[in-house]
Amino acid sequence: MENAIVMSGIRPTGFLHLGNYFGAVKNYVKMQDEFTCYFMVADLHSLTTHPDTKELKNHVTRVLAEYIACGLDPDKAALYCQSHIRETAELYLYLNMLAYKGELEKTATFKEKVRQQPDNANAGLLTYPVLQAADIIIHRATLVPVGKDQEQHLEMARNFANRFNHRYGDVFPEPKAFNYGEQLIKVPSLDGTGKMSKSENQNATIYLADEDELIRKKVMKAKTDAGPTEPNSPKPDYIENIFLLMKLVSAEEVTAKFESDYNNCTIRYGDMKKQLAEDMVKFIAPIREKAEAIRNNHTLLREVMEKGAAKAGKSAVATMEIVRQAIGLKYY
Ligand code: ADP
Repeated sequence: MENAIVMSGIRPTGFLHLGNYFGAVKNYVKMQDEFTCYFMVADLHSLTTHPDTKELKNHVTRVLAEYIACGLDPDKAALYCQSHIRETAELYLYLNMLAYKGELEKTATFKEKVRQQPDNANAGLLTYPVLQAADIIIHRATLVPVGKDQEQHLEMARNFANRFNHRYGDVFPEPKAFNYGEQLIKVPSLDGTGKMSKSENQNATIYLADEDELIRKKVMKAKTDAGPTEPNSPKPDYIENIFLLMKLVSAEEVTAKFESDYNNCTIRYGDMKKQLAEDMVKFIAPIREKAEAIRNNHTLLREVMEKGAAKAGKSAVATMEIVRQAIGLKYY
């Protein structure tokens, strides 16, 4: 793993949330000290579902500011915008010739997005995993820190890379989904019906920009029940989720106390949620304040973007030279 290349990104389709943080950004911050890292704001991907670009600049600068507020350092990792690396579009085109309609149509996220926006089932949405593969392998990255929802896309990226190698010669290493823990993470929404997300489930998602009072309000509304009546009962999903969220932000002994209260049927969910809300406020407030200050510093954001594009561009240009050669597009 030494000298491994790391690539990942987040779409600027709204505010970052605890799912993005624990599924992705937390790993980015740790990885920037150990590996060569490329972290982008996936603005092109956002066009597949958000064709209206009125809010795009706002969202792009917000993601960049939140990246930095979470601890990403533009001197360690390349922090850049996807659209600034034009070579990606070229690689996307070549990979599209190696991607089959059937496998793309079977992708879970494609089916879900078509269900959500039946009037805009565009080809970009269908080939989303191809663009994502291009984003990753253009840096010849092997480690891709992502949440559990991205597992299938990473498998497809591996397939496309292998298919390219098989046809044109060994150019790309295999990219793999990465998390420092054993398993990829899925941060559940507070209503127990899915995952925290930028654009869905907004009242059940905690955003890094949420004010203290809003965090408390959302947490206190999380679904609970009258509590277990038998010692050591299995937990219903929505209760399991509250424990899972607590494990992310609270001290170990705090979670252990509520576990033991649950197991001996003395748990008071009101107290548990109050504690969880305070621990979330403590976790989020400093990130929110830092991000707000950075978001207003346009000189800094512009410098970061330019520096990131220069670093990522250099790596992309080098890969594309090899790719064109391998395909046979160099005639003299
Ligand atoms: P969103 O689904 O909120 O629009 P993206 O699709 O831009 O987020 O994903 C950005 C990163 O955040 C990906 O690595 C994804 O796996 C991760 N991620 C998003 N939501 C969650 C979640 N609820 N739990 C864990 N990771 C998540």
